Amino acid sequence: MENVAQRLTMLKDALPEGVTLVAVSKFHPAEAIMEAYNAGQRDFGESYAGELVGKYEELPKDIRWHFIGRLQRRKVRQVVPFVSLIHSVDSVRLLTEIERQAAKCSRVVDVLLELHLAQEDSKGGLSLEECSELLASCRKEDYPHLQLRGLMMMASNVDDERLVAQEFSLAQQYFIKVKEKFFPTNDGFNICSWGMSDDYEIALHHGSTMVRIGTKIFGDR
Ligand SMILES: *Cc1c(COP(=O)(O)O)cnc(C)c1O
Repeated sequence: MENVAQRLTMLKDALPEGVTLVAVSKFHPAEAIMEAYNAGQRDFGESYAGELVGKYEELPKDIRWHFIGRLQRRKVRQVVPFVSLIHSVDSVRLLTEIERQAAKCSRVVDVLLELHLAQEDSKGGLSLEECSELLASCRKEDYPHLQLRGLMMMASNVDDERLVAQEFSLAQQYFIKVKEKFFPTNDGFNICSWGMSDDYEIALHHGSTMVRIGTKIFGDR
């Protein structure tokens, strides 16, 4: 069995150029993160605000922290001062709170809108309709401290690779439409965050520019 650094390096070498690897470190200790850090990894993903804040305080300050879990509005204040990208925005209320907190610390925070295309009810995110409504109703001027960088989604957690591929493909087509309609001249809207340990290879065939991988690097949680 390889160690964290070896698994990370193998994975990175196999990723196409231009794809960002977010190493998902939730539930794994600081030492495991440092192993990956010492192998050159700088983008790490966490799902819980409290855990993220603790690791941020303890670990090197040049780490780019990604918030990938469900974000409660009352936790926004804790992560906004340092977070690099929030992947999981799925309501105007959450956008508004991120804007408010980002203004307070004079930051511009990068965010993704999370789509819900999977079959599981438990997953957060916007339907395509809801996402289009949100994009049509929000005026950029009202969110000067936010930069909308793209979309995020999770595929169904099933063995049926055709279903998984269909969901990624739907997300990819939707991204292209949204980009044309709402961000035709904005090159900053360019992130497609999809693909995890079990399905990132499929995701890469369907436009993913950012994969979020935990188990395949750090082992079981
Ligand atoms: C935990 C998690 C991951 C990583 O999952 P693995 O299967 O361990 O690679 C990716 N994205 C989100 C949103 C997660 O919560």
